[in-house]
Amino acid sequence: MRTDIFENKRLGLYFHIPFCLSKCAYCDFNSSVENNAETLTRYVSALISHMESYKLCAKNHDSDSVFIGGGTPTALPEEELIRLIRAVKKTFNLTKGAEFTVEANPATVSVNLLKKLRRMGVNRLSMGLQSADNGELKALSRIHTRQDFLQSYRAARAAGLDNINVDVMFGIPYQTFDSLMKTLDFVTRLRPEHISLYNLKIEPGTPFFDERKNIKRLSADEDTELAMYVSAIDFLSARGYYQYEISNFARSGYQCYHNLKYWNCEEYLGFGVSAHSYFDGNRFSIIGNLRQYMDAVEDMTSEAPLIAENERIEDRERVGEYVMLRFRLNEGLNSMEFASRFGVSFEKMYGNKALRYVKAGFMTYKDGNYALTPRGMFVSNYILSDILEFEDLGGYIGNI
Ligand code: SF4
Repeated sequence: MRTDIFENKRLGLYFHIPFCLSKCAYCDFNSSVENNAETLTRYVSALISHMESYKLCAKNHDSDSVFIGGGTPTALPEEELIRLIRAVKKTFNLTKGAEFTVEANPATVSVNLLKKLRRMGVNRLSMGLQSADNGELKALSRIHTRQDFLQSYRAARAAGLDNINVDVMFGIPYQTFDSLMKTLDFVTRLRPEHISLYNLKIEPGTPFFDERKNIKRLSADEDTELAMYVSAIDFLSARGYYQYEISNFARSGYQCYHNLKYWNCEEYLGFGVSAHSYFDGNRFSIIGNLRQYMDAVEDMTSEAPLIAENERIEDRERVGEYVMLRFRLNEGLNSMEFASRFGVSFEKMYGNKALRYVKAGFMTYKDGNYALTPRGMFVSNYILSDILEFEDLGGYIGNI
């Protein structure tokens, strides 16, 4: 008997917490140092009302991944974070064993809090270390040290969290090839299950952008950054971390299920300021202004807009989006799968350009499968803009 037809659709859930204890000089995420207790409580209540408004449309979905990110979710008062988690579990049908991630800044966790989160069903912790060099952390204006991270990491293990991601960055002011390798050595010795490795980008609207000439002068040049990236991939692979996406590495069986939903074009709903969703054929994002968001959610009958952008994904966009997202993944794009999904040949649409990149060593081609090489991943934004003939992919898809 077929059972699949009776199964509910799967859905990822994302909750954005736009608060931090201090603002890092390179950060362009929607987060502020708001610490007024009333505002934090009001925001969590708004998130709860917001998710409840989706209860009906998500009733035929089972949620197999939850991601509370930010910002710094652990900057919320403990009882507010717990109230939010309780509401998520009450509002949506969470599958047994659903991946449940909370992001944490190493300066904001205690073993007690982590134990409580674990008991509530949180089974994955994502910690932003960025660098194990205190001088580099200071250059990034991170509020934690290497020692703080170590303490928080041990607290997470003591609390029973057996799936931990650690974020690392390269291209940091004062960072050298050797110091990056030392950071990777430090992290891999701790044996987290997952490592994310990002290239520092200087984004408009940040203090780093205002100081960009100086920041660039203090940072490695592009050739060194490419060497850092390629060597990091080799180093991580030798330590048992398989690269499955441009910036993501995991020990066997620990790929981030939630993030894979984004890259596999699966459905997810995002709640909170600036959160993005892909649901029922539409991509939409929530407004970024904190007070307007809370006002709009508190009175859903008002005219106040809650949605910043909404786009029905038509066939042409769906093809482009699929190509962009598949090339983020190490396994790349399979032309047979492409043809059966869209009824048109990948080669016919993009073959000439793809072959050019294969010949130049930025892409591989084997048995109908195209994938970016590490060099190709380093400049993926450029390559994909060229293949898809987009003028600018903007922040939608970065390099690394
Ligand atoms: S902790 Fe993260 S979200 Fe907060 S300011 Fe720093 S980089 Fe941005």
